[in-house]
Amino acid sequence: MHTPESETETEARPPESETPAQAEARRARLRARREARKAGLESERPASNGEVRRAPAREVTREERRAARARREPILPSAPENGVKPSGPWPWEKSGGPAPLVHAVRLDPARVDEAARRVVMKLTRAGHEAYLVGGCVRDLLVGKSPKDFDVATSALPEEVRSVFRNSRIIGRRFRLVHVFFGGGQIIETATFRRTPQPTESDEEDSLLIRSDNVFGEAHEDALRRDFTINALFYDIERESVLDWTNGMRDIESRTVRTIGDPMVRLQEDPVRILRAVKFAARLDFGLDPALYDAAVHCRGALAMAARPRLSEEILRLMRGGASHRSFWLALEMGLLDVLLPELAAFVVDAKHGAFVFHLLSEVDERTKETGAPLDDVLLWAALLFEPLLEACAHETDRMRAALEFMEPVVERIALPRRIADGVARLAATFPRHQAGKASRFKKSPLYPLLVELTELRKRALARARA
Ligand code: ATP
Ligand code: MG
Repeated sequence: MHTPESETETEARPPESETPAQAEARRARLRARREARKAGLESERPASNGEVRRAPAREVTREERRAARARREPILPSAPENGVKPSGPWPWEKSGGPAPLVHAVRLDPARVDEAARRVVMKLTRAGHEAYLVGGCVRDLLVGKSPKDFDVATSALPEEVRSVFRNSRIIGRRFRLVHVFFGGGQIIETATFRRTPQPTESDEEDSLLIRSDNVFGEAHEDALRRDFTINALFYDIERESVLDWTNGMRDIESRTVRTIGDPMVRLQEDPVRILRAVKFAARLDFGLDPALYDAAVHCRGALAMAARPRLSEEILRLMRGGASHRSFWLALEMGLLDVLLPELAAFVVDAKHGAFVFHLLSEVDERTKETGAPLDDVLLWAALLFEPLLEACAHETDRMRAALEFMEPVVERIALPRRIADGVARLAATFPRHQAGKASRFKKSPLYPLLVELTELRKRALARARA
């Protein structure tokens, strides 16, 4: 069987041991990849339902943007579906805004972080509205352990500050409060905000949101969020989930759906495309078909997002223990072509692609074993290692070749230089390490990562042979 490992071994041989036919085949393969990359990779991809879908990769026209802008306001669920009618005055009633669906749900108090609970209770007693919001509510509802607990409140940052002496206002663009607890724990407490009205100058060009620094009411804070499953507010005292976006329905049907028109919401902030993939993969949820299509359609807009956010969000796809699923979706939707074309070109070749995905499965296994995300350099190395090894094969100066490979990645998604250099160094040293000739490298801080990566590749190889 032809495995990627035997491929690497073949390619790592010095050029003189290559037969002319082998050398020609290798050059042809590299040429084909380069051309595919240049052609923008308009490949046909299988859709999740097994059909082949041709992903359109064109610019969104000005007319489409105008039409989308007219549809900007998200639609509130019109009538309670499975919610209970609140009895007695609710804090949100004071604002005179629309009523949410109220779901009587008791989140296990033992799983609600004590510090977050104290922040909510103290703010409530001081006369403010305060809820657990976002990822923690979502994760508790689906039975996962939240990474962290966030609080949203009607109190202004100064008011929060005055309730908690052990707190600090942070951020210039949008000010929120960090409330400090023992053991270095921080509860991020944000004042409700809303999507600002577009300014005249924004009007013509784009839907991109450049500022979101406007305070608002609870329902507005729910509507400005990205996905319905991320917009649920938990009222600890009343043991109820407040739902302005029909998010509970989507938790139950395990669907990632944007709040409002996906074409609008993804153009406002293209990083939401990657966030959708992350949540679908991590929670094992489906993507709402309209969101899927809009993401495929708008994927070129990723190039307009702030570049450091892109590298950070790609890293998050790797960190959560669902990197295999995340990158499979990203490939299928054509996102990899935009973000990491060098990887996309490599994995469309079925033989190579299979090994990259086996390696990602091992990353996921290892993440679950350790119960914490792996080192950032190791994660990036695992993702890019195979195409990198190919780029370095037969080069006398492997480090230079590896850095040349990494350079466009650094440019495109602002991958931190420290990480790019580390990844290049690991790839350049790998063949010598395998041959037992990299003893001087043992002193390098990167050495433990090389050992771990070698182990992951070994396991991936066993998986490929199974
Ligand atoms: P995780 O478990 O990965 O932290 P999370 O849902 O908590 O998931 P965060 O990035 O911590 O995600 O953001 C907290 C909340 O802020 C989200 O749940 C969502 O409601 C909102 N949010 C974050 N990013 C965006 C965005 N780009 N657009 C709109 N809302 C966002
Ligand atoms: Mg979070």
